[in-house]
This record gives sequence, C-alpha cells and structure tokens, in this order.
Amino acid sequence: MSVTIKSEHEIELMRESCRLLAIVHDEIRKMIEPGISTMQLNERAHHMITKEFGCKPNFLHLYGFPYTICTSVNDQVVHGFPSKDVILKEGDIISVDMGLIYKGYHSDAARTWGVGKISEEDQKLIDVTKQSFFEGIKYARAGNHLHDISAAVQAYAESFGFGVVRDMVGHGIGTALHEDPQIPNFKERGMGKGIRLRPGMTFAIEPMINAGTWEVDIDDWKCVTSDGSKSAHYENTIVITDGDPEILTLYRDGREV
Ligand code: MG
Repeated sequence: MSVTIKSEHEIELMRESCRLLAIVHDEIRKMIEPGISTMQLNERAHHMITKEFGCKPNFLHLYGFPYTICTSVNDQVVHGFPSKDVILKEGDIISVDMGLIYKGYHSDAARTWGVGKISEEDQKLIDVTKQSFFEGIKYARAGNHLHDISAAVQAYAESFGFGVVRDMVGHGIGTALHEDPQIPNFKERGMGKGIRLRPGMTFAIEPMINAGTWEVDIDDWKCVTSDGSKSAHYENTIVITDGDPEILTLYRDGREV
C-alpha cells in the first residue's frame, strides 16, 4: 500500500477543487425541499460542475456509476441513484455525496439534510454523524496513527446507540478519487494501528452512521440498512498538516457549508 504525500502545489490544486465542490453542495442544499426530485438535484450539480466550473464530475462512470451525484434517501446508506421518480417529501432525510476534478485533482464530500420538518430523532442522527467526523479529525495530526481517527468516530457514534457502517470506508484522495489508505470508521481487534500520519497526506473521511444496526444489505449499487432504520453520511476532504488538519470542502466564502 502506498500513500502519497502531496506537494504544496498539489494541495493548492486540491484546495481549489474542494472550494468549487463546497459551492455546489451549498447550491444543492438550497434546492432540497418537498416536491423536488433527486434527478433535479443531479442535473443542477452536473450543470454547475461541467458548464459553470469547466470541471469533471468524478463519480460519473466510476466503476460504472451512471450519475454525477449520489442521492441516498432515508434507509439508503450510500450510492443512491438520482431519479425523476424519487420526489422528496416532508420528513425525509437525504444524503448527497459528490465530487469533481479540477486540473487533475479530486474532491469528495457528503452532506445529509432534512426535507422540510423532520423528527428530533432524525435530526439527532444527522447531527451525531456530522460531529463524529469532527471527533475523528481531532486525531488527524502528524505523528498519530490512522486508526486513531477510526476509533474516535466509532466511540462517539456508538455512545448514542447508533450503528457504524462497516462495509464502506473513507479513503485517500488526490489524482484519483480513491487512493490508499482505506479509512474505516471503526476499529476492531487485529486491524492494527494503521499508517502513521504525515503532513501532505490527503484523505476523504466519511462516517456513515445508521440509527439502528450497523448492518447493511448490498446488491450491486443498492445499499440499505438491514433493519430499515435511517442512515446519515457526512464527509470532507482534508489534508494533514504540521498542526490542525485543514478541512478543504467545508467553507464557501468563509461560511460553513
Ligand atoms: Mg468518499
């Protein structure tokens, strides 16, 4: 397994890739309301990435994925196909996962939003999933080990009784969407400590958290919770530095997206 260290020039290109992605996420967030179809979200994101920014969507055609964004509603964990027949309704939750390529450098980020008014229980799932990312990256510091991040994400999410998805993991990112290392959101006996973190490593850290069991049913692109409970997803692209990690996909114009 080889984990690449990015130069300052490469990180600068990734910053721009991620900055543009945050703008697209912000736009899609504003569109989410009862009555809109997930295909409309896909079309808007595709137009922004390709026509407004002149970039390439990196999910489209990767491993055969047929769309620009993943829209995963309620018990769908990840990889949901946008569809004109999936109309968002009050009380749904939707995870939007997407990325783009700017001058050869990838970005990747996911957000989960409520549609209209949602239950307190669902809001809590969304909030804990987001916070589990921030708990994890407290350990994303040079000299620490990769699975320190994994363990922190898991401990936080499980302290609320939520299930941490095992079947999908975060990843290195750079000139490819999925680079080494794999970044689990859990730590189990026998996994070891993981690589030692060094400045210039760039990661997509992405907790996928279920309200119930961690187990999921996967069939080709379909991925749903085994017990029908809801699932949330939160992801940012980050870079390891000499100090605090830099979160590249978090801000638009200085404002959190
Ligand atoms: Mg990812």
